[in-house]
Amino acid sequence: MKALRWHGQKDVRVEEVPEPSPGKGEVKIKVKWCGICGTDLTEYKSGPLLIPAKKPHPATGKQAPLITGHEFSGEVAEVGSEVTGIAVGDRVTVWPLLPCYNCYWCSRGRYNECLRLSTMGIAADGAFAEYVVVPERNVYKLPDNVTYEMGSFVEPLAVAVRACLRGEITIGDRVAVIGAGAIGLLALQVAKAAGAQQLFVIETQPARRELALKLGATHVFNPLEVDAGREIAKLTDNLRANKVIECAGIPATINMTLSVSGRAAKIIMVGISPTPVEFAFDRFLFMEKEITTVQGYCGDEFPIALSLLASGQVNVEPMISSKIKLADIIDKGFEALINNPEENMKILVSPE
Ligand SMILES: [Zn+2]
Ligand SMILES: [Zn+2]
Repeated sequence: MKALRWHGQKDVRVEEVPEPSPGKGEVKIKVKWCGICGTDLTEYKSGPLLIPAKKPHPATGKQAPLITGHEFSGEVAEVGSEVTGIAVGDRVTVWPLLPCYNCYWCSRGRYNECLRLSTMGIAADGAFAEYVVVPERNVYKLPDNVTYEMGSFVEPLAVAVRACLRGEITIGDRVAVIGAGAIGLLALQVAKAAGAQQLFVIETQPARRELALKLGATHVFNPLEVDAGREIAKLTDNLRANKVIECAGIPATINMTLSVSGRAAKIIMVGISPTPVEFAFDRFLFMEKEITTVQGYCGDEFPIALSLLASGQVNVEPMISSKIKLADIIDKGFEALINNPEENMKILVSPE
C-alpha cells in the first residue's frame, strides 16, 4: 500500500510499504480522511520532537521510518480474532493513544499522563496510509449523520472538549479565546455549547476572525490594532473574561491572558511555548487568578466530541481549507501550511 513515512527532518516520503493485517483484538481500517495536525507539521519542519528517530520507542518497539497521521476516520476492512464490538463495514474514528493501562496514572484514567504512553502516528504507524491497524478498544463508531470528513475532526475536537472541561466552562461564562487556529475555533464552539454567554476571539489574521464570527464568536479583536483587554472590559462592565483559553502559545499571547481576564478568572493553557516565557506573576497572584493546563485528552472526550458533531453544535465544514490526495501531501499539505498559514486552516488528506 501507499503511505507517508517520516524518515527525518524535511525528509518524508510517499512510498510503497507492506499492507498491515490485524492480529488478535485488532481492527484494520481503510482510511478515508486524515487531517494534518500541528504536530505532523512540526515533525516535518523541525523534528524529531516526539518521533523515535535513533532508537526504538520503549513501549511500541517502533522507530523511524514511521507512518505519521493521527486525526482520521475510515471504514473497517477486516477484524482480527476476538473482536466482538466492531464489524467489517463500520464507519469509525480512532482514539490514537496507546497507554500501558497498568501504571499509577492509567489506573486513575489519566491516560494522557501514562508513564509509558505512545501515540499512533508518532511512536507507532499512523493513518497517512491506505490502511491502519489499531486495537479494538481504540475504535469509536461514527453516528450516521457524522461524515468521514467530520470524523477526522474528532481527535482535535477532543482537545477542545478537554480544555472546556478543565476550565469548567459553564452557563453565563464570559470566555476569551486567544488564537483562532483549529483548536481555538473548536474550543470556541465547545464553550458556546457549554453555555458561555459572551465569546471573545483574539486573532491577528482577518480570515480567521471572519471564521470565528461565523462559528459563534460574539466579538473578535485584532490585537495588533486594539487593546483586547480594554475592549473586553467595555463589553463586560469591567469584569473582563472569567475564562480564557490560550491557544497560541507565544510570549505575547500568554501575557495577554492577564489583561483579558478579570479577577479570580481561570486561564486555560492549550498553546505550547517551546521556550520559557516571562510572565507578570504579581498581576496574576493579586487577583487570585488560576491557571490550568491541557495536554491532549483522556478517555471521556471522544464520546463528547462525537455527540457535539452529531448534534450540529460543532460545525467543522468551514474549517476545512482543502482536501488533497496523499501523493500531494508534501506540496499541497506541509509546504502549503508553512508558506501560506493565513489561507490554510485544516487540510484533509485522502489516500485514495
Ligand atoms: Zn493532533
Ligand atoms: Zn500507563
